[in-house]
Parts: sequence; structure tokens; C-alpha cells
Amino acid sequence: MNTKWCGLITLLIVAAQGWNAVDGAVIAEGAKVEKLAGDFAFTEGPAADAQGNIFFSDIPNNRIHKWSLDGKLSTFREDSGGANGLYFDKKGNLLACEGGGRRLVSIDPGGSVTVLADKYEGKRFNSPNDLWIDPKGGVYFSDPRYGNRDGMEQDGEYVYYLSPDRKRLIRVVADMVRPNGVIGTPDGKTLYVADNGDRKTFVYQVNDDGTLSNKRLFAPEGSDGMTIDNEGNVYLTTKVVAVYNKDGEKIESIEVPEQPANVTFGGRDNQTLSITARTSLYAVRMRVKGAGQQTGASSKYEQDVIKTSVGDLTITCIGHGTLMFSFNGKIIHVDPVGQEADYAEMPKADLILITHEHGDHLDPAAIKTLSKQETQLVLTKACSQSVTDGTVMDNGDVKTIAGLKIEAVPAYNIVHQWSAGKPYHPEGQGNGYVITFGDKRVYVAGDTENTPEMKELKNIDVAFLPMNVPYTMTPEMVADAAEAFKPKILYPYHCSQTDPNSLVDLLKDVKGIEVRIRNLR
Ligand SMILES: [Zn+2]
Repeated sequence: MNTKWCGLITLLIVAAQGWNAVDGAVIAEGAKVEKLAGDFAFTEGPAADAQGNIFFSDIPNNRIHKWSLDGKLSTFREDSGGANGLYFDKKGNLLACEGGGRRLVSIDPGGSVTVLADKYEGKRFNSPNDLWIDPKGGVYFSDPRYGNRDGMEQDGEYVYYLSPDRKRLIRVVADMVRPNGVIGTPDGKTLYVADNGDRKTFVYQVNDDGTLSNKRLFAPEGSDGMTIDNEGNVYLTTKVVAVYNKDGEKIESIEVPEQPANVTFGGRDNQTLSITARTSLYAVRMRVKGAGQQTGASSKYEQDVIKTSVGDLTITCIGHGTLMFSFNGKIIHVDPVGQEADYAEMPKADLILITHEHGDHLDPAAIKTLSKQETQLVLTKACSQSVTDGTVMDNGDVKTIAGLKIEAVPAYNIVHQWSAGKPYHPEGQGNGYVITFGDKRVYVAGDTENTPEMKELKNIDVAFLPMNVPYTMTPEMVADAAEAFKPKILYPYHCSQTDPNSLVDLLKDVKGIEVRIRNLR
């Protein structure tokens, strides 16, 4: 290949990775698996605390270690009961499956141990192995038995669920040979369980009461410990770390010098994959982040990272019409409302944008909770009647606030109305906002329909368009607008009962628009 072509192709590949990150490798460009610490007997159960420090078990040596952000190794707990899988709860307690102690325990930050479960129907567990805590605080854990069968009291190897109030313990998987790895999605609706005895991994739907249904084969191999990233990819540990996308297609294999037993995301930015493998702890920098792995408040939501010319923009999908952006050390909240998040746990705002005065967009209490001395608030005239101290932007205004260029785009109904002549959102009142982050322009539309002003927008990289009837757009109206102004990435949001997947169908033949479905009902 001549060098000119080679250079051009390289450039195209780099450009493609820089933008359409979803198609890229999960590992950061150029990153290598590195050994952090060694000389252990058998490492397992890596778990990240809220800061991103990694805790892991050395099972035969009966210890739990901590690998801190500054690269220091320490011992967190001696006589760990043969602790295997670990996971932090939202309060900062470390839950541990004690395989030797045959129980599930919670270790508080001071080191005090509480037994959460040690028997099912009066019989001791086999050897609890791996666990996952759902968003409600319930615990799924596997209870296989490796090696000798001495003293087994259970009549088989199962997966259990301990309810958030710790009062109810149920068997949720009773048809596997040797269940092991357990991991769920941040929305708590999907659980992956590896049957290491049958060398297969399955995916389940999680029901409201913690039971599982709709079992499907996910991957034709089993796994020891597992984890999941913010794109929904699932990481199995086999002879390598095998990465499957959410459709169950293997997309990558991460080779490790020793055979991996478990994986988790950690580090300050939740973007380092930690791997416990036999005698060592390894890590590799990633392009993707962990999903809900950390206990930091914002990580229980789905997040996407958009590369810009001046650093990463992280989008946190909080719910319905509510979003958070992190960019260049700044936090921007859009329509924060208490019904979608506990804002006492969220990072304080440098900038808050409010689209209009309806209760699912304007919540003075949430604004107050998120505000610090230098927080800037942008809102509409109607909003300024209930919240003072904000900067009012009228339709069409352009301002630079908190160092970001903000354009106010009209948001209103053309068709849908309360009654004749009374649209849900009258023209001239509500705003959508186009925010410029480096070389990327992000449009958050607010409550609107496919207005001429929307359809005339130019150079939108990311768009959030509302899609619920009767108040905003039908999927067809969203598709019509998207075809007109062609955002590169389109998030249907503010969906309520409207199925966002219907938009994927409507736009399947339109090139250049990637529809991303997130938990924005
Ligand atoms: Zn509204």
C-alpha cells in the first residue's frame, strides 16, 4: 500500500473512532493490560468504592486488599472468611460472599461485619461466590460448590435474591449446574448469570419482586466473575476477558498474562478495567466506562461520552426530561426535578438550564439543592415567577453563560392542545437550548413539536427530542424533524408511555442518524 493511501486510511480510522465511538474498541486507543500487584495466591472479586479505589480478595490467604487511586496496596481485612465476590452498596458498605464462611456479609467502612444471610430454609449455603446489588439495594448472589462436596446441606447449586429490607431470601435460579458470575444492568431490569458448570451464560428479565423470567441464552460460554460497561457490553472471564455486546455478539477478547477470574470498572473516572487473575491484579485503560459499577450518585444512571475538540462530554441520562452534562470540569443540569433523582447526592451545578415552567421540568427545590455560590441559572420568563436570580432567555436569544454558548430555540405545540386554541405549550414561552461544547453542538429540545425553527437547525451533533403524546411529539413527528435537521446522534427523551424503539424503526433507512435509546421514560 502506498504511503499516501495508508495515511489517508489511518486518518479515516482515527476520525471514525473519534466520533462514532460506539463502533470502536472497548479498550482505550493504545492502552495495554498492566500488572499492578502480584504474589497473591488466587485473586478474585474486584469492587470499586465511590472514589474508584479497588478492593479485591485473595481467597486462599483469607484477605481482602485495597488498591488505592494513588497506586498503594494495603490490607482491608484479615480472616476474610474466604471472601470471594465483593460489591459496594450505596452507603459505602462492602458486601462479601464468604465462600469459606458460607455466608453473605456486609462490612462497614470501619470494618464491622454484619451477617446478611447464611442459610436458606434452615440449611447452610454451599459457598457464596459472586454477587450483584440491584438499584433498590437487593442482592443477587450465586452459591455454587467447587471442589469437594463435604458438608453440603443444600440439594443443589442455586442463585438467591435477598430483598432490600433483608427480610426475604428467595431462590431465583434453580436449574443451573454451577452458577457463578452475576451482573445486572444499572436500571435493574436485566440480570446476567453464568452457568460455569454448563459453560453457558444466560440473560433474564428481572421482575418487580426480584424474581427472574424470560431466560435466554446470552453467550455460548460460562464465566467466573463478570462486569458491564456503559454501552451495555458484558465482560465474561474465561481464558481471556471476553466482551459481548448486549445482543450477545462477541466483540472483543482482552488477553491477560494470567487467566482472569473476575473484572470490574474503577478508577477516578470509572474508566479503568481491573482484572483479578490468579496471582495478580491487572488493569487496562478503557474507552468505555463502567455502568453503575461505582456507588457515586451519578453512576446509577446511564452515561454516554461524546468526544469533543476540548475533551470529553459526559451525558448522564437521569430520566424523562432530565439530563446532566459534565464537561471540562463543569456540571450542567437540565430540568432537574426531584421526582427523577435525589439531588442531595448529585454534583452541584455550574449551570442549570430550565426549558419551561411545567412541574416535570421546573422544580425550585431541586434547583436550590444543586446551587452553590457561583451557579448560573438560565430559564424562561414564566419560570422566573417562581425562581428568582436566573437569567431569562427569550426564544432566539444567544448568550455565553458559564463559558458556554447557549442558544434558545422556540419550543411549542403546533397540533396538540388542551382544548381548541389552548396548546399544551404555547408559542413564545418555552425554550429548547443548543449548547456548544468545543466543536460539538448539543440540542435539548424541551417540550415541543417539530416546529419550523427546529427543522431549520444546522450542525447539530447530538439532539434530545421529546416523544410523548399528547403533550409533545408522536414518533412520526420526531422522525420528520430528525430527517429535516439530521442530528448525528438522536436521543428520544421525555417518552412516558411512548415506546422509544418505534423511532428506531421509523429512521432505519435514514443514513447518518444514530438513534440511542436510553432510560428516559
Ligand atoms: Zn411541558
